[in-house]
Amino acid sequence: MLRKVIALFGVTTAIGATAFLDEDPGVRHARLQLIWGLIGEVWGWLVLAAIVFGGFSPRLRDLAYRLTGRRLGTLSPYIVLLSVLLAMLSAPVDFYRGYVIEHEFGLSNQDFWAWASDYAKGLGVAVVSGLITFNLVYWIVRKSPRRWWLYGATAVVILSVVIAALAPVLITPLFNKFEPLQDQDLRARILALSERGGVQVADVLQVDMSRQTNAANAYFIGIGPTKRIVLGDTLLANFSGDEVLTVVAHEMGHQAHGDIWRSIGVGAIFFFAGFYVLYRILGPLIRRSERRIGFSRLEDAASLPLVLLLIGLLFFVAQPVENTFSRNIEHEADRFALDLTHQNEDYASALEKLGRINLSDPDPPAWIELIFYSHPSLKKRIEFAESYRPWAQPSDLQRLAPELSR
Ligand SMILES: [Zn+2]
Repeated sequence: MLRKVIALFGVTTAIGATAFLDEDPGVRHARLQLIWGLIGEVWGWLVLAAIVFGGFSPRLRDLAYRLTGRRLGTLSPYIVLLSVLLAMLSAPVDFYRGYVIEHEFGLSNQDFWAWASDYAKGLGVAVVSGLITFNLVYWIVRKSPRRWWLYGATAVVILSVVIAALAPVLITPLFNKFEPLQDQDLRARILALSERGGVQVADVLQVDMSRQTNAANAYFIGIGPTKRIVLGDTLLANFSGDEVLTVVAHEMGHQAHGDIWRSIGVGAIFFFAGFYVLYRILGPLIRRSERRIGFSRLEDAASLPLVLLLIGLLFFVAQPVENTFSRNIEHEADRFALDLTHQNEDYASALEKLGRINLSDPDPPAWIELIFYSHPSLKKRIEFAESYRPWAQPSDLQRLAPELSR
């Protein structure tokens, strides 16, 4: 085990060393974030494995129980205690990724306390959702020892719908201020565009992203009455009206294609498969390691770090499939934006600008794109934006031919 860990760190440092050789700051930034993201992930698994297989979990569980007494039971205080412990142990890597690197590259606008306050709020959100999810799942495990994977996955899928609907009104406002799009001219153009495309446009809001970062972004979020297109103030400040319009058209594509529901649908497949795998693995694993781990049943709150470790590993294995699905729906949203606007040059320059401002790697190695990228590489997206013109007449193509061959 230890030798494997050392080998893994050897590989990541080797990739890290080559990242510094690249001249382009975007490539350097993207690779550093990728490498430190991986280190953080592996570190998290090692911590969980140490807690479980070092036999510490039952002691932590007893401590949690003693701290709060009988009334709260064991699971809830244990979830809080474990979350705080894990956050403290992963804070150094998170700080390096979210603060040090981002400052080094001039992307972060936060001082230490602003960063720490966001970090604490993030921990709070994680604790609350952890309390709801795991109280529900452990209750189901107790009620139905044989079918818990089926009912548990169903409950988690329902929860994910609730979270997707409530996130834009309950969670994102904890970190930023949202308001209606201020630019009335742009608003009118967006409405005209949505009418032309026959898309009932969701609310268009702007957010003070510049509070945290210089990076620019836009996204579509929410379900039913909470669905909205959100534009970062950093996007509005750096992009021309025509460029913003093409970005909005991409987000309209997500809305028109029902991409949030499609993502929840794909997530549901993963949850059912994942819970079934957990069900098959956990029982035998706990029975076999009982003496080492110090608990003998899944219902025991002390099993939580083991459950978290396996969930983390399963998510990691599923990541390439999930990202391949995501890259597909992103490509379809790009196509939608071009079909709706016919503004190929504006969209290509918007994408180029996003890459430059956000310091991303426009052309990562294929295997990195396959595993880690939720969007097609910027190089591919820009090439598509420049060449996709199914509406063009043959005479237009002739006119464009010298331009394209340059
Ligand atoms: Zn998108």
